[in-house]
Amino acid sequence: MKRKYSQSGKDDAMTDGNADPLIHEDDLRLPHRSTRDDDMKIGIYLCSCDGCVSGILDLKTIADGVRHLKCVKKVEIVNHLCSKQSIKTLKKDAEKNALNRIVIGACSPRTYFRLFQGELSQNGENGIIIEMANIREQCAWIHWDDPLAATEKASTMISMAVAKLRATSMSEKGYKAVVDEDICDGCGICASVCRIKAISIVNDPQRSGKKIASVNENICDGCGACVASCPSGALDQSSFSNKQILAQIEAATTGRIIEDLSSPNILVFACNWCSYAAADLAGLKKLNLPPNFLTIRTMCSARIDPEWVLSAFSKGIDGVLVLPGKLGHCHYEIGNLRTTRRIALLRRVLSQLGFDEMRLMLGFVDAEDAEEYQHEVSSFISTIRSIGPNPLRDLELSRKRR
Ligand code: SF4
Ligand code: SF4
Repeated sequence: MKRKYSQSGKDDAMTDGNADPLIHEDDLRLPHRSTRDDDMKIGIYLCSCDGCVSGILDLKTIADGVRHLKCVKKVEIVNHLCSKQSIKTLKKDAEKNALNRIVIGACSPRTYFRLFQGELSQNGENGIIIEMANIREQCAWIHWDDPLAATEKASTMISMAVAKLRATSMSEKGYKAVVDEDICDGCGICASVCRIKAISIVNDPQRSGKKIASVNENICDGCGACVASCPSGALDQSSFSNKQILAQIEAATTGRIIEDLSSPNILVFACNWCSYAAADLAGLKKLNLPPNFLTIRTMCSARIDPEWVLSAFSKGIDGVLVLPGKLGHCHYEIGNLRTTRRIALLRRVLSQLGFDEMRLMLGFVDAEDAEEYQHEVSSFISTIRSIGPNPLRDLELSRKRR
């Protein structure tokens, strides 16, 4: 029998809505890169943006909600974080509190990530890693009509950014593909996938007779297509690693978000150059969307690993929407073509497992298509609403209660 979303929106036994996201060491693929909580000091800075954000989101509630998260040492609300004066103050504050990871809850990373990374972390050279949570364009501005729900969503977005930072090692820089030479068996699939021939199969200098993949970092442009194609799990991508994305999914499914049975919980995978840009534009145009979806950004949709989709479903997400750019418009030429094939295959697998394949959908949205982005997301939410909650949500809720 098909389940319906409950009217009250509550489940009988509420768990601690602020439970700490769990990060599994097994999820680590980047070789020789450990992430230890006891080394981490995370600062969270929320920008009120001259009222553009604080006029809609209750930043104090968000600050109070994320203060307790593991490794968080400092939470502060600042106006105009991008101004010279604020950056100067923030630098001093980071030094005073010995922070080594900073979450900026503000505008889109497409707007100011480079500024913050350059100013606060000297492009990763000073031991500080930056992550941005886009609580302006993709939360406050797109959910302006529902400040309460937008505030709750923004808290989850900050938790996801914290989870990603906790899964980020100090040596992680840029977006390049990284090979774990111990796992790689030299099959060459990645080399055949890389459209710009950045991978070669070479003799392993450590083990005679063994072949391994070698990534030319000067050529690799960080699309991540090879990573999702490796059958051995020997490849990973800096800044969009398996561990980081799984940590974000875990944080996205923690607490009240997953326990609210009144509406579908949706996960959207958006690519940096196309649909993520369209989502920013939708915010800028103040197009309105329901707040019950969370977005994970990758550089290219071809990076999306089937494991992430399965992980999201196993954690109770009701629907996953993958949004590459239109065919022929991919920043990485054929990345979206690979995504199209992979998602079609994954839908067949889900269907064979008895899972409604409509829970996983693909839409094509170019950077300038703000209205199309709005249409894709809202119609997917309606589709999932008509299908009902993910049958695995109960299992996940009991796991989180234990
Ligand atoms: S696809 Fe994976 S296992 Fe095969 S050569 Fe590339 S990195 Fe190695
Ligand atoms: S990340 Fe993209 S460009 Fe880099 S090696 Fe892999 S497929 Fe090639």
